[in-house]
Amino acid sequence: MIYDGTGSEPFKADIGINADTIAFIGDLSKASAKKEIDANGKAVAPGFIDTHSHHAGSIFKHRDLIAAVSQGITTIIIGQDGGSNFPLSDFYKKLNDTTVAVNIGSYSGHNTLRDSVLGKDYKRFATQQEIDKMKVLLQQDMEAGALGLSTGLEYDPGIYSGNDEILQLAKVVTPFNGRYISHIRSEDRYFWKAIDEIITVGKEAKIPVQVSHIKLAMHNIWGKADSLLALFDATRKMGIDISADIYPYAFWNSTIKVLFPNRNFNDEKEAELILKEITLPEDIILGSYEVNPDYAGKSLAEIAKIENRSPARMLVELIARIDDWKRKNDRECQENIMATSMSESDIKKLMQWSHTNICTDGSSAGTHPRGYGAFTRVLGNYVKKEKALTMSQAIYKMTGLSAQQMGIQKRGSIKTGYYADLVIFNPETVSDQATVADPQKLSEGIEIVWVNGTIVFENKKTTELYPGKIILRQ
Ligand SMILES: [Zn+2]
Repeated sequence: MIYDGTGSEPFKADIGINADTIAFIGDLSKASAKKEIDANGKAVAPGFIDTHSHHAGSIFKHRDLIAAVSQGITTIIIGQDGGSNFPLSDFYKKLNDTTVAVNIGSYSGHNTLRDSVLGKDYKRFATQQEIDKMKVLLQQDMEAGALGLSTGLEYDPGIYSGNDEILQLAKVVTPFNGRYISHIRSEDRYFWKAIDEIITVGKEAKIPVQVSHIKLAMHNIWGKADSLLALFDATRKMGIDISADIYPYAFWNSTIKVLFPNRNFNDEKEAELILKEITLPEDIILGSYEVNPDYAGKSLAEIAKIENRSPARMLVELIARIDDWKRKNDRECQENIMATSMSESDIKKLMQWSHTNICTDGSSAGTHPRGYGAFTRVLGNYVKKEKALTMSQAIYKMTGLSAQQMGIQKRGSIKTGYYADLVIFNPETVSDQATVADPQKLSEGIEIVWVNGTIVFENKKTTELYPGKIILRQ
């Protein structure tokens, strides 16, 4: 059964691949080929497009990208949350010489640009002269083929930028037909203001804007998915092309510092508020903690008990120890947390919105199971179990819609003349297996994955072939 990536009902047919292209769709019963695959009883879909990926962390060492291809992903879009390879032209040169298993497109990251202009003196607004310097660097990345500008406004150094800095930079990508994709300034306390900011960027810069990994991550905004989507629909009616991506989990993964948007890491009262309104002490799990590696996998509640402190006190101290460690070792301290702070009913509604596509936000060596299981979890849990989406809708949100929202041509659909990025999966068994305890466990049901006409994953193994291409802005 072919799910062609447009959202329409599946149909039965044969597919002919010639070199890197889908050459024929129809009845091939009288034809022969060098290699023939019987996909009877299986589903065939376009290779999945991950519009918010961190899988490229060590791609030149791990070129097979098993975390991505084992869940059916054939294209990853990197340079997310404001962080990108800089300058992009150098990265693309390297990627051209050393290809990898999947196709890669990238945004130019605001935090990267800001860091290269402001350096260590970043806890302030940029001057006009500094913004002008960032504009030049961004322009160069756009000329190298970046899809647009990405921001990560909850992170250093972007958190210290003014709205005007973002707007000025966004306008640089307009003449290139570029886009804006954003980890918005707040996913909790200042959520509505952050939404306002991204809408303003779309309106003033006249470019498509996408909210990265959309979520309502605070108890007092739970249940607001309907009002948010009504606002988005009204915005689209005004001619502003706003869209979103989402990963299918109720817990996020980030630096522990993201909990303190006002950077008052010593404020125990603030910590108390966080542990009441955003996430509970038993719902924060340390993914890694270089200060004391034994704490990885433990919850804040457990650690507070071990050290006989209140959870709020413990949170403040865990952060202070990171900064001490950093001073002593003169480098960044590895740390990350997973925190449950979304509601299932919001997740479903946001996922169902017509302009939300699926992403992982995952990485190949991460502690969050999304790195290996996001796409298969949508198919296994949200399609088959929860019935929040039909199979056709879900595939569309992983392929055709994603290509459209990233401006990618000739991918994301099964059509003749399109690149042969394809996945065969078993619709009965497809499911995620990765968990917090075992975040790299391979999914079930993904059988064969092609990238540009070459098989990269089969029999639960990568083939050590690297047919991925660079996705330049088109
Ligand atoms: Zn993010």
